[in-house]
Amino acid sequence: MRRFCYKCGALEKDAGPLLLGLCQRCFSDLPLLELPPEIEVVLCRDCGAFRLGGRWQRQSSQEPIKDAARQVVFDSLRVVSYTDSGRLLLRTVEVPKLQVEVEPRPEEGLVVVRALGRLHSLQKNPKFEELASKLNLKYTTCETCRLKRAKHHEAILQLRDFPSSEKRLQVQRELEKLVAQLGESDPMNFIADIKEQHGGLDYYLSTVGLGRRIAAQLKERFGATVFESAKLIGRTRDGRKKYRVSILARFM
Ligand SMILES: [Zn+2]
Ligand SMILES: [Zn+2]
Repeated sequence: MRRFCYKCGALEKDAGPLLLGLCQRCFSDLPLLELPPEIEVVLCRDCGAFRLGGRWQRQSSQEPIKDAARQVVFDSLRVVSYTDSGRLLLRTVEVPKLQVEVEPRPEEGLVVVRALGRLHSLQKNPKFEELASKLNLKYTTCETCRLKRAKHHEAILQLRDFPSSEKRLQVQRELEKLVAQLGESDPMNFIADIKEQHGGLDYYLSTVGLGRRIAAQLKERFGATVFESAKLIGRTRDGRKKYRVSILARFM
């Protein structure tokens, strides 16, 4: 029996092997990529973080908008692949020998995707496809920046009894350097506020863990004596007790 392409009638011996009943040329008309017609990129206007898969993703990029758009596109882009188990939609990293290029053009409100790859292992020549989606940029404030703006704090580190103003300055520098370092690995580590208090300084810190880490460092580096206390300030929405922790560090 002579097999032929159901669409154009070409014989398999001339234009095969047939794939899904189509000759090689007709088969290559099938789309390679699936991409939503609109790509929405949500960015934090304060720090440049962007939403990816329901979470805020930090970035330190020279081109924050383009890099965010690229990652969002790669997250939603799917590649069509026909196998024995039928038509699959795969992520780009799951497709061997695929070439993909994502070119965001925020000034035109567009993102262009180009790809070269095979839809079927028996497809003779890889297919080139170019798609464009609308690029919508939305600006908001991420959770961390919202807490920073609200001066959110769970611990107050009280620095008291400095032997000299030089010492005080030295401690401050060390403390602020440490918070900056910890903030790089986790942006939830930050100083919410600083207040002069009873001849000393109060540092309002984002988390209790941060307060304890710094207190331990002050003890080690400067021989401070540290005393921690907690005050019940209410309950969380799920009914757990909520405390504000105070850590007193004395330097004399
Ligand atoms: Zn055909
Ligand atoms: Zn932010």
